[in-house]
Amino acid sequence: MKIPILFILSSVSGGGKTTLRRHLLKTFPHLAWSVSATSRPARPGDIEGKDYIFLTKDDFETRIKNGDFLEYAIVHGGSSAKYYGTLKSSIDKFISDGKSVLCEIDVQGFYQIKKNYSGKVVSVFIQPPSLDIIRQRLIHRGDNSLLQIEERLETAKEELKHMKAYDHIILNDDLSKAKEDIVALFRKYL
Ligand code: 5GP
Repeated sequence: MKIPILFILSSVSGGGKTTLRRHLLKTFPHLAWSVSATSRPARPGDIEGKDYIFLTKDDFETRIKNGDFLEYAIVHGGSSAKYYGTLKSSIDKFISDGKSVLCEIDVQGFYQIKKNYSGKVVSVFIQPPSLDIIRQRLIHRGDNSLLQIEERLETAKEELKHMKAYDHIILNDDLSKAKEDIVALFRKYL
């Protein structure tokens, strides 16, 4: 039996990772999805337990103290700062069943997993074509205020500095090409 892999997918906000993640999960039905916990409020259309496990800030902090997270981070500065984290329970049940798991986390979480997780990890960074295009995508998406967009762009600038620490980089300039590239990459491992 193949060793189960913990796949990490990271990008900047608006980098296209949610679209690519959905495409991967459709293409590889045996790949499990790690639902993250967050203290950010649910957005319209978010489904509890499917998109995120929504926790209050206090509950999140209690679970940190209990050692329930494989990794967690405060993502985005200023008014958007919220906890996000991967619960050990979300990963362990799949890995112990021999299933590979995909998690979509930020750069801080990636470093924590690299340091603390003893199993096999494959990390992939989705590279956006430019920060200007990210700005346009975030404005077009319409679910963030202008202040939040500027904060996300600041975070993005920092995150792009760490892209080279990942095992693989997929350029998301043209979405169809990025979908093909990421499927070809995952096929090598799955
Ligand atoms: P959003 O609020 O737009 O759903 O997500 C914001 C960012 O939080 C995502 O771009 C992703 O990088 C990060 N994120 C989501 N889940 C996790 C998690 O479990 N751990 C960490 N460290 N970051 C996460």
